[in-house]
Amino acid sequence: MKLDFEKGIVLAVDDQAADLLIVESALSDFYTIITSTSPKEAIELAKQHTPDVILLDIDMPEMDGFTLCKALQTIPSLASTSFMFITSHSSPHFETEALALGAADFITKPIHLDICRLRVKSQMTIKQQSFSLHKAYSVLRKEKTHLDTILQSIGDGVVAIDTNKVVTFINPVAQRLTGWTQKEAAGQQLDDIMVLRDAATGIRMINPLHVALEQKRTVAMALNAELMSRDKTKYRVEDSASPIFDMEGNHIIGGVIVFQDVTKSIAMSTQMTHLTNHDQLTGLPNRVLLHDRMLQAINHVKHTNHMVAALLIDIDNFNYLNDAVGHHLGDTIIQEVAERLEDVSDKKTTISRIGGDEFVVLLSDCRSLKNITKTAKEIVETFNTPFVIEGEEHRLSISMGVSTYPVDASTPEELMLHSDTAVYKVKNEGKNNVSFYADELSEDLKVRVNIEKLLRQRLNEESMLVYFQPKYNLSNGQLTGMEALVRMKGYDDELIFPDSFIPIAEVTGLINNLGKEVLDKSCKQAKAWLDAGTPIQVAVNIGASQFNEFGFTEMLEGILSKYDLSPQWLSLEITETALIQNINTAKKAILALKKIGVLIALDDFGTGYSSLSYLRSFNFDVLKIDRSFIMDIDRDEQALSIVRAIVDLANSLKLSIVCEGIETSSHLSALQKMGCEQGQGYYFCKPKPAEALTTAWEIKS
Ligand code: C2E
Ligand code: CA
Ligand code: CA
Repeated sequence: MKLDFEKGIVLAVDDQAADLLIVESALSDFYTIITSTSPKEAIELAKQHTPDVILLDIDMPEMDGFTLCKALQTIPSLASTSFMFITSHSSPHFETEALALGAADFITKPIHLDICRLRVKSQMTIKQQSFSLHKAYSVLRKEKTHLDTILQSIGDGVVAIDTNKVVTFINPVAQRLTGWTQKEAAGQQLDDIMVLRDAATGIRMINPLHVALEQKRTVAMALNAELMSRDKTKYRVEDSASPIFDMEGNHIIGGVIVFQDVTKSIAMSTQMTHLTNHDQLTGLPNRVLLHDRMLQAINHVKHTNHMVAALLIDIDNFNYLNDAVGHHLGDTIIQEVAERLEDVSDKKTTISRIGGDEFVVLLSDCRSLKNITKTAKEIVETFNTPFVIEGEEHRLSISMGVSTYPVDASTPEELMLHSDTAVYKVKNEGKNNVSFYADELSEDLKVRVNIEKLLRQRLNEESMLVYFQPKYNLSNGQLTGMEALVRMKGYDDELIFPDSFIPIAEVTGLINNLGKEVLDKSCKQAKAWLDAGTPIQVAVNIGASQFNEFGFTEMLEGILSKYDLSPQWLSLEITETALIQNINTAKKAILALKKIGVLIALDDFGTGYSSLSYLRSFNFDVLKIDRSFIMDIDRDEQALSIVRAIVDLANSLKLSIVCEGIETSSHLSALQKMGCEQGQGYYFCKPKPAEALTTAWEIKS
């Protein structure tokens, strides 16, 4: 027989099979029911199935119900089984005996179905409840043991107190950190065993557990708490305290504080912070920390009449020295510079290394400009003593730029920017000096510095703009080419013209990057026009230092092949000055370029050397007559004859001519009369972005 143990199990024993049938029909819907007419067999069945309830007939010939009950009760597995008797007796004698035996209930014969069912059911319910209770109790016991184990073995310190702040429990970690054993601690006041102080000031701190009890909520420990153990060892601790409520959650019955020893992790994070905030080589604060200190300093002096000064120091020609003595010794020099700077500084000064050979001395609370000047002078003087590196003396000078809050800067960024500008001024004026941003820094220089900054930014973004101006055949008005002219977007999206940034690009060396970007964008556009079925030659201006830069030809070839552009669609405009700078290299470069198949135009002709037959030896193809001559041809006889002479000469040398700056119809007719071949100018079209040039191909006259 397969039994369903989910249901309760009932064993019924009666010598009358008919009675068993009634019992079975009363209960089988609800319980698994096992029956037997034989008490002996019943004992076996009971052992085998461990019934929840056993129904016993009292009068049975083989063995009476009481005897059977006693026998069954000796079986250990039946300890929790309920016994009920089925009887036709109504005498109290039987009842007393049955109860004495521990019987739970009676069912009288004749057996009534419902009564039988109800009585068994209540026994089952009692049984099940006691089972649940037992189970709950054992779970609880398990949990308690588990919690005890956790409290004993967790890595956190745990201290519990009662409402009088008297310690009731202290786990092993807390014992180790406080130096009090459970035995010693029990009964002590919390504050006697947990001595908390502020790690920075050493001032005694209130235990968060007091606050937790008072405010009836969980409270975190202050960030910089330090626990002093009985033997005066200090531990940095962190964590929280909570009140303990009674089961109903109404009344506080005590509190618990859980804390961790974070001494090691604080040491580690201090080291990490140090690394991210300091320069590795000198151990000085770096840019990040400097910014922080600047901010603090500014906030500190905000409502006073004191000042904050940033002294930006740049070692003159350090790169040369570094290359000469080697980087290792260069590092040693930097370290010594750091030491010397530290020697002149006091407590309120932050010395910071913000770049290879750049330092900032931040004076955080100055009473007067005089103080700042004095410190600046002292710094300069420390560099008068030569640096002795491996027995050799090296003399270093510095350029220093000073910016002050609130005189010329109101934020850390401005302090940095303006001291940087001031250094720039010193460098520009021959180095080895100190300059204050606030001092008559010329407007010119400010503009210049700003343009250079912007130019660097735009080049980094590769966001220089290339405009195009069409060139036309002056006799039939047909489009003959485009000149690429660079533009730069200002901070407010205004257009900045090349005359204000090309000269700066030339002196700062940025011209190479700029030229490369313009060449790239121009070739890309030439290719696009070619692919669109409107092929046109694009002329690109090449700066003097760009043209003379080593590797220029290779760079140009690279761009042509990048866009798969045939060189016939590119020409280069080079000024006389570029050619004269280094005659031999210029000749070679032009030869190499012509070999590739690129046309060369001599730009701005007439403004420089102007010996055409001499210039001719450079082998260029096109001559561009400068705008300044065209400007006056319709009213100045002399201008007209110069242009005429140039045109004649060019014709005899078989050079093409392009006239720049044709602004009026009278310019145009004068040039046409002379037989000038090509021209460009506002009269036809101003330089525009490529997409705005859709009508350029229409014949102009
Ligand atoms: P440029 O090579 O002499 O270029 C001709 C200049 O004359 C352009 O000025 C052009 O806009 C302007 N222009 C054209 N037609 C007229 C006109 O009818 N009237 C007047 N008043 N001006 C006219 P832009 O674009 O300001 O360029 C100035 C100079 O900057 C150029 O002179 C060139 O030397 C240089 N430049 C321009 N783009 C580049 C470049 O990509 N690289 C280099 N290295 N230099 C460039
Ligand atoms: Ca040009
Ligand atoms: Ca020109």
